[in-house]
Amino acid sequence: MNDIYQAALLAHAKNPHGAGAVPRGTEDAEALNAGCGDEIRVKLVWTPEGGLERLVYEIHGCAVSVAAASMAARRLEGKTPDEIAATAAAFAARLGQAGFEEEWGDFRAFNGIENYPARLHCALLVWQALEKALAKRAGP
Ligand SMILES: [Zn+2]
Repeated sequence: MNDIYQAALLAHAKNPHGAGAVPRGTEDAEALNAGCGDEIRVKLVWTPEGGLERLVYEIHGCAVSVAAASMAARRLEGKTPDEIAATAAAFAARLGQAGFEEEWGDFRAFNGIENYPARLHCALLVWQALEKALAKRAGP
């Protein structure tokens, strides 16, 4: 089993990819994890072709929530809304269950998170915000 605080996770938490200011009221979506006190606001920047140019997010949270956001930002660049939704569903299905295989890269740091059940919400925070942002983009 991997310790969830392994090096890859800490590297992302220390230098989160894509983190930036998303002032309140300018976000596409936000999500809260009351149990841990994690809070994220996300903004999706799209290319003219409809792919994700970048995921910008402002986060105040623990190392797990920050690392999850950083990994998502890196993984999702260039993806379409459908691909992002599919990745979110696949992530949620693996987290704390089947786990992440080789192709998931740094996400493998979350293997073993089932031993820290409270942390599941931390790892899912960015994905919850992403799903809300995509739903909003699709319209009511
Ligand atoms: Zn947390």
